[in-house]
Amino acid sequence: MKCNLIGGEWCAGPTSRQNINPSDIDDIVGEYARADAGQTRDAIDAAYDAQKSWADSSIQTRATALDRAGSELLSRQAELGALLSREEGKTLLEGIAEVARAGQIFKFFAAEAVRTKGEKLASVRPLVEVEITREPVGVVGVITPWNFPIAIPAWKIAPALAYGNSVVFKPADLVPGSARALAEILHRSGFPPGVFNLVMGRGSIVGNEMVASTRVDALSFTGSVETGQQLLEQGARQFRKMQLEMGGKNPLVVLDDADLDVAIDCAVQGAYYSTGQRCTASSRFIVQNGIYARFVERMTEALSQLRVGHALDPDTDIGPVVDEEQLRQDEAYIVIGKNEGARLVYGGTAVAGRTRGHFLAPALFADATPRMRIAREEIFGPVACAIPVASYEEAIEVANDSEFGLSAGICTTSLKYATHFKRHIRCGMAMVNVPTAGVDYHVPFGGAKASSFGPREQGTYAAEFFTTVKTAYTKAYGEST
Ligand code: ADP
Repeated sequence: MKCNLIGGEWCAGPTSRQNINPSDIDDIVGEYARADAGQTRDAIDAAYDAQKSWADSSIQTRATALDRAGSELLSRQAELGALLSREEGKTLLEGIAEVARAGQIFKFFAAEAVRTKGEKLASVRPLVEVEITREPVGVVGVITPWNFPIAIPAWKIAPALAYGNSVVFKPADLVPGSARALAEILHRSGFPPGVFNLVMGRGSIVGNEMVASTRVDALSFTGSVETGQQLLEQGARQFRKMQLEMGGKNPLVVLDDADLDVAIDCAVQGAYYSTGQRCTASSRFIVQNGIYARFVERMTEALSQLRVGHALDPDTDIGPVVDEEQLRQDEAYIVIGKNEGARLVYGGTAVAGRTRGHFLAPALFADATPRMRIAREEIFGPVACAIPVASYEEAIEVANDSEFGLSAGICTTSLKYATHFKRHIRCGMAMVNVPTAGVDYHVPFGGAKASSFGPREQGTYAAEFFTTVKTAYTKAYGEST
């Protein structure tokens, strides 16, 4: 059994779970511990005990440990990328790129640790000086989803540790392998025992215990809206600092003046890569009438060329859906779309592979309307719909008509529409002639409306969540006023 990491010790769980390859359900990736409430409390206590001395550690100590972790991730990206793709189902290229990104994130925050800065200002009172400093928040709980098994943990854990917090990390139950590999790396990178703890297991047990604990000062979560909302309500009672990244129903607007090749590239990459299992995936193509028919035709052509199959096969473009439950949800939405009157122009059916996996042909609905469920609800699979519109004005209205606001894109060659879109689209990340999914690691990530709550993740903005600000006033000693 692959164990949990608590206070620097590897601890077997009271129970365990088999990690199953979604490309081949006969392939067991490994047996991983599942913590119970008691073990979760032990991890929280270990983090609590270790936090104060970590907060006092030198910025060089933190930077060196983070940099070492980043170097190991980068040097083992091929091996860890294969593990990630095996347990989650994204293609090998995507798996390797994700591990590389995790490595870059650790290196970025290694450098940020030594750049921790404050401000010194004059007071409005004579002989008094004001200092503004950033301090650690304390014990940070990190709860992550299955779709980015190493990058999302990295972009929460690295800044938490960089700014002097200790961490209790609960990965998604479906993908403990990458989390466990990351824990092994952190264990030997120079963090004192208890500064970083791994508790694998179920949300309803491990996650719940983290939320209930009065020793967890801040919680950074990525997952579903329902769970996020529940965590927020519980966290509010304890005035806990919360950062929630949740769903998306991301639009890609394609105007008549768009370069069609660019638009097709953005649409295919944004909606279907990583099997569409990204919170930034495009799922609504909002297309102007003049280009609509050509867009649908070219998309159908492009989708028919994508090879769906085993994530580790070199010629695979689209890996499997993550598990049977998610596959059933995707298929249910195909039925919903058809019943609502949208026209399924490609895919949406199960595909047989060389192994027993959860393969689904990427699906495109045409002639959808903004009120349809397939145009409003997050499906989280390789399923998108095209909505025809008459004008740019109608396009942005439809794009903004969503409970979500994570990422939004436009394909246009017009500066007028591009600049208007960037200013008026209600979302956290606006994309012009680039896919809605696929973001840089050194700039803020997050959304508006029901997509996000709390300060942004990543880049220098991560400091907003992982530190707390203190204002100190000092009067010069012995001076008369
Ligand atoms: P997803 O569909 O992306 O997995 P979830 O919200 O179901 O979204 O899960 C995201 C993360 O939240 C997972 O690590 C999951 O185990 C955890 N989780 C689920 N339910 C709870 C809960 N009640 N309390 C704390 N964490 C939870």
